[in-house]
Amino acid sequence: MAESTATEQVIIGALSPSRAGDFMTCPLLYRFRVIDRLPERPSQAAVRGTVVHSVLERLYDLPAADRTVQAALGLLEPQWLRLLEGEPDYAEMFADDEERARWLGEARTMLERYFTLEDPSRLEPAERELYVEAVLDSGLLLRGYIDRVDVAPTGDVRVVDYKTGTAPRRDFEAKALFQMKFYALVLWRLNGTVPRLLQLIYLGNGEVVRYEPDEADLRATERKVGALWQAIERSLTTGEWRARPSRLCDWCDHQALCPEFGGTPPPLPERRPGDTMAGSRRRRAATDEL
Ligand code: SF4
Repeated sequence: MAESTATEQVIIGALSPSRAGDFMTCPLLYRFRVIDRLPERPSQAAVRGTVVHSVLERLYDLPAADRTVQAALGLLEPQWLRLLEGEPDYAEMFADDEERARWLGEARTMLERYFTLEDPSRLEPAERELYVEAVLDSGLLLRGYIDRVDVAPTGDVRVVDYKTGTAPRRDFEAKALFQMKFYALVLWRLNGTVPRLLQLIYLGNGEVVRYEPDEADLRATERKVGALWQAIERSLTTGEWRARPSRLCDWCDHQALCPEFGGTPPPLPERRPGDTMAGSRRRRAATDEL
């Protein structure tokens, strides 16, 4: 499956599953991230997710017989150092060497757990870290990164996502399933085929969640995404971005600016959800779906 980009069309806006999830969680959080583009401190959990994802991506560069747990663990430190080279600020996440060693140890445990859930020597992914985008009839561009796509000899497509996050289980799972249906919708729009299976691999606790989508599911997802975009458009017009407190506030970097915590948001910049053009691919960030 080749990397896919949207064809030329008038585009009214762009959404990824993570930013759509932000708006559903809290419109003000969406505003802070997309309109104000406020910087966020890297969290240990998000960066660990990035490192584990890159190890699992690289693992499949190796010949099938060499994809052992030792090989995966051997990739961990080099991938962490490679990431650190590009983002030197990540070093400041740790109070000391002991804390960093503990963090790497947790990543190691996740990789070991991965081998209890799948046997990578028996898999040949069609795609890894696949950037996809598709424009809906409404002109809304949907885009995102899919961790892995497997294609069976029958042509059946399986979409696989690795989860390493530590958000509250219920919020996390609802977001994750929405994200998978979002990807299935993009693939359906691109290839005309509904993926056979959506598979979430939870490396934090060793669970695998499987879901078989159908066309009705994906149409419902398209309606949901369309309604979400209309709500974003309303906020853009009125300038009202409602704070919606939840347990996820514990993970929010913007409490000091949030009215729910006694803060005042900065003046709204003259900016719409910025990069709305098709083909404007960017590097996957630690705040993206992991
Ligand atoms: S602290 Fe909570 S309510 Fe405030 S912006 Fe962040 S997520 Fe929204």
